[in-house]
Amino acid sequence: MNKKKPFVTKEQAEEIVKQYPTPIHLYDEKGIRENARRLYQAFSWNKGFKEYFAVKATPTPRILQILKEEGCGTDCSSYTELMMSEACGFSGKEIMFSSNDTPAEDFILADRLGATINLDDITHIPFLENAIGHIPERICCRYNPGGVFQLGGSEEGFQVMDNPGDAKYGMTREQMTEAYKTLKAKGAKEFGIHAFLASNTISNEYYPALARILFQMAVELKEETGAHITFINLSGGIGIPYRPEQPVNDIAIIGEGVRKAYEEILVPAGMDDVALYTELGRYMLGPYGCLLTRAIHEKNTYKNYIGVDACAANLMRPAIYGAYHHITVLGKEDAPCDHKYDVTGSLCENCDKFAVDRMLPKIDMGDLLVIHDSGAHGFSMGYNYNGKLRSAEVLLKEDGSTELIRRAETPADYFATLDITGLFNK
Ligand SMILES: *Cc1c(COP(=O)(O)O)cnc(C)c1O
Repeated sequence: MNKKKPFVTKEQAEEIVKQYPTPIHLYDEKGIRENARRLYQAFSWNKGFKEYFAVKATPTPRILQILKEEGCGTDCSSYTELMMSEACGFSGKEIMFSSNDTPAEDFILADRLGATINLDDITHIPFLENAIGHIPERICCRYNPGGVFQLGGSEEGFQVMDNPGDAKYGMTREQMTEAYKTLKAKGAKEFGIHAFLASNTISNEYYPALARILFQMAVELKEETGAHITFINLSGGIGIPYRPEQPVNDIAIIGEGVRKAYEEILVPAGMDDVALYTELGRYMLGPYGCLLTRAIHEKNTYKNYIGVDACAANLMRPAIYGAYHHITVLGKEDAPCDHKYDVTGSLCENCDKFAVDRMLPKIDMGDLLVIHDSGAHGFSMGYNYNGKLRSAEVLLKEDGSTELIRRAETPADYFATLDITGLFNK
């Protein structure tokens, strides 16, 4: 039987929810740290390697602080993500600003913090210059090769397939050359390349294949423009196995694959000083967070429903992408999965289902369910539809104790932007 093991036991979880009522997002400090160390180990051959954690995946200061202690910087795409990075003690080269359709205020703050700005479009050169009054000495451009990106074709389909030609991000190949020439003429001295071609890849081949494309282009851009390329940002995209039967990416193999491309392409071109960066979100946090929720209703009509106290406002991936998130019924890890359920939340939207036709052990009212792999793009995609309140976030620390790292929203938070707050002072 295919299984995923939660990082909490039923006994631990029952203790935790006594203090912090369900639903809660729970994070595993040990898992986060060990995974970050594996990433740094895999790229230890590259002198300037740095992971810039994609803040949007888990914008929680305590999490950013743990990652900072493991050597990571932040990758921001908005004003408030920049503010949070600053508040958490990140500054200068520790911050990457990879945004698109960027407001001028965001560029101004990024520049004030000394962040490395990654330009999404060639027209952002005059826009940035106009916003901040100069072109920074260190600058990056985002590349989009267009077409379709495929890897590892087989009869069942492609291992990785995505559609850059349909993506709004990045510059064309011709624009990259033009952008570098313009930026250089305006005083830029240190150049970077960035590209994000495929999302949630379950393949050890994605980063090496992307690296080859970017390394080749780096050599060409250097020849064409004379620009000094000091870093190449492989961005995000390394995936996690949401389904228990999916293979796990091996970061050591990925790091070696990138090293091979580096030695074959960059080293012979005399570019062995290029630092490699990553901007992983999902890979850094996804498996190390889960949504803990309790079964509160059972309903049998044309199907069998289990209603839980979390809803799509706490974790929207199943509702909007039909994404699979594995579910473990705590205390019933070894029970046979002989009941077919739809596991639902309470939104007045029929898509509010964490699982459809899922085979699970018999669920009793009050059972605690672990919805796995919600550590990235989980809490952060939350919203207030139907007047639902965001849940708390709790850190399970290495010593087994817990820490509240974000309190749950209250009705007063929900009403805070309205002029009726007096209601709550009565
Ligand atoms: C979302 C995003 C990432 C992180 O993506 P993951 O799939 O979580 O690895 C990295 N860089 C940029 C620019 C992004 O928008």
